[in-house]
Amino acid sequence: MDLASRATILTPSLTLSIDSKAKAMKAEGIDVCSFGAGEPDFDTPDHIKAAAMASLDGGFTKYTPSSGTPELRQAISEKFHNDNGLDYKPSQVIVSNGAKHSCFNVILATIEPGDEVIIPAPYWLSYPEMVRLAGGEPVFVETTEESGWKITPEQFENAMTPRTKMIIINTPGNPTGAVYTREELTGLAAVAEEEGILILADEIYEKLTYDGAQHVSIASLSPEVYDLTVTVNGFSKAYAMTGWRLGYIGAPEPIAKAIDSMQSHSTSNPCSFAQKGGLAALKGDQQQVADMREEFEMRRNYMFQRFSEINGISVVKPQGAFYMLVNISRLLLTSQNFSDRLLSKANVAVVPGIAFGDDRTIRFSYATSMDVIKNGLDRFEEFCRTL
Ligand code: PMP
Repeated sequence: MDLASRATILTPSLTLSIDSKAKAMKAEGIDVCSFGAGEPDFDTPDHIKAAAMASLDGGFTKYTPSSGTPELRQAISEKFHNDNGLDYKPSQVIVSNGAKHSCFNVILATIEPGDEVIIPAPYWLSYPEMVRLAGGEPVFVETTEESGWKITPEQFENAMTPRTKMIIINTPGNPTGAVYTREELTGLAAVAEEEGILILADEIYEKLTYDGAQHVSIASLSPEVYDLTVTVNGFSKAYAMTGWRLGYIGAPEPIAKAIDSMQSHSTSNPCSFAQKGGLAALKGDQQQVADMREEFEMRRNYMFQRFSEINGISVVKPQGAFYMLVNISRLLLTSQNFSDRLLSKANVAVVPGIAFGDDRTIRFSYATSMDVIKNGLDRFEEFCRTL
């Protein structure tokens, strides 16, 4: 079959392949402890579901404006103002089918063939593929445990070439759990500003920070950075709404306009009644968001304690999201080999770091119950001991 070259350059998602192997084992009746999840294990809060159901009953089942309903764009504009110190008019807000779609739109609207995009590694695995689909070139910058898996302004500067168009900053980060401080972001923003580099700020895990760490939106640092930044956020992680497919951006007007047109000719509007759920999420009680965050923090504390008692591995205490990146490089196996063996010998599913551009590590998600966490870590500890 004569496929377009853009369709042949993508690598299949490793996170999904491990996940399907684990699911197949479970279907055979094997008791697998899965740490592969990229989504909250909680259900969507009831008041959000009720709003969507009421809108269905009320016949809200037709097209909406392609970039979202005016009321939802207004509510997101207010959210950006209240939570992030960012003033985006509703016309600068575009609602899409998940934050993944939002990121894709931003990259497609701004990256041309030959443009380079700096991506700190380990990275969320869809970024490089999106850049390649747009004809751009991902430029990876390897971060270290010493810097808390964060790119430094010096590294950013050194990775720059005349073709650099954008940097992607994901805080809190997947798969690292790293949360950039205001000072760290200020340093990165200064480099971006000097060269006029666009910033894609993926803030989807904003609500999940621990130890009192504060999420800072890089676009809020100065009017100059604001003009260079597109801020991406969504409902999946904060409100346990992964299946609803609802994400959004706040962007400088020309970028928002371009994405508005692109979206009107591709997906059109995000699902009408999902938008009603999104509106209820933003306008409603935020207690359940706080409760979920607290539960994640408890699990993180437990896991970190357990990992720190296991010989041969190391972990940076993550300050956000719901992942823990474990350095297994001293155990002398590739991340894929380690993960395969861990699954087949100990029935524990994790994601090999190579999926995120880092072969030294494996990723544990703690978006799973304490029972699975305790049981899985017992098995993991035993597995490491017998390696
Ligand atoms: N960005 C990051 C860093 C993510 O981890 C995810 C989900 N795995 C997304 C964006 C996309 O989220 P969604 O499309 O469900 O809104």
